[in-house]
Amino acid sequence: MSRALFLDRDGTLIIDKVYLADPAGVEIFPGVAEGLQRARSLGYKLFLFTNQSGIGRGLHTIEDTHRVNARFEERLGLPRPVFDGICIAPEAPGQPIAYRKPSPRFILETLAANPSLDPTQCWMVGDSAADLGAGLAANINVAAVQTGKVDPRTLPEVKQGGVPVFATFADFAATLA
Ligand SMILES: [Mg+2]
Repeated sequence: MSRALFLDRDGTLIIDKVYLADPAGVEIFPGVAEGLQRARSLGYKLFLFTNQSGIGRGLHTIEDTHRVNARFEERLGLPRPVFDGICIAPEAPGQPIAYRKPSPRFILETLAANPSLDPTQCWMVGDSAADLGAGLAANINVAAVQTGKVDPRTLPEVKQGGVPVFATFADFAATLA
């Protein structure tokens, strides 16, 4: 069986600039490239799963997000493509939901499309309640990081137990075996 990491972008892998539309604004947290490389070398597929409500709000375009993602991958300095798949959920809150976290749809569709993936060995890693909710709803493992705008230890998903909290994505990746 193979396994995968589903990764939030803003506040998890790069600094959350809120509605980031300019590739020049990409700032990767320390240790992220090494952590992604480590996961890859251990056989994890990597999927980026990012809510970008700035698109639905009309603040920027999906092309802007593609450019930001491309700059992010470029700056990682890893063999490309870094990610086996990328889901950009463009909906603003209140708009009909296609993929916006906490919907688990992207995770569930990815698992269905890759039957070799073992859900018990897959993780959703993120900084927000929406990330944790998506992973829990998809019935995969969930981890929270403290590099976002909210202290995940205050979130109900964490307080209820079973969701480990890591200071950074690098710290999470270091625990993978
Ligand atoms: Mg986030």
